[in-house]
Amino acid sequence: MEHVFFKPWIGKNYQNGGIFKKKILVLGESHYCGNENCNGKCGVRDFPDGGCEDFTYDRVMDYLNGSTGRWTNTFRKFERSLVNRETTMEDSNEIWQSLAFFNFLQVAMTETRTAGTDEDYKEGQTAFLEVINELHPDLIIVWGVGRLYDNLPNEDWIKGEPLVVDGYNVKNGYYQLKNGKKSRVIAVYHPSTSRGYSWDWWHKVIATQL
Ligand SMILES: [Zn+2]
Repeated sequence: MEHVFFKPWIGKNYQNGGIFKKKILVLGESHYCGNENCNGKCGVRDFPDGGCEDFTYDRVMDYLNGSTGRWTNTFRKFERSLVNRETTMEDSNEIWQSLAFFNFLQVAMTETRTAGTDEDYKEGQTAFLEVINELHPDLIIVWGVGRLYDNLPNEDWIKGEPLVVDGYNVKNGYYQLKNGKKSRVIAVYHPSTSRGYSWDWWHKVIATQL
């Protein structure tokens, strides 16, 4: 994964499918780095030799260890939409140890910079294709039906058949992996969305793939 700076979280049970009996890769867009040393610039271009490459892993571990941050509600709402119930710390651990999680953009965002540049998304596409060809997910759940979804690579993409849940058209498709496998892709609202991410409703969408 030579173009990957922010290494994916790979739960201990991801490879055997864990509680979902399926390899699920969750795709976020970017992360905010609050580390003063990076000055909001960590990533593939400014720190090619490393620095915050374990950021994603550390945030998931923080969450599972009970520390709170801007990611807490996002992780919690999302995990509930997978299992369709309120979750305990123990549930969270079981769920995230069954998942892989990757942030698409390979440069950090700051408070004043919340979307990537065209170059950032291009780099993200290369990194993303490397990650899916390494992790061979059965299902990729994309956080966001807008910007991130629209910036997924066209390469190796297969458009899905219409998938309608409660009258809502779920964005979906597949990636053709180099080993011959197809990875299913669906997009959900970003769980942190200000419009509200209703986990019981999104469970209906995710359940069509479980
Ligand atoms: Zn950083």
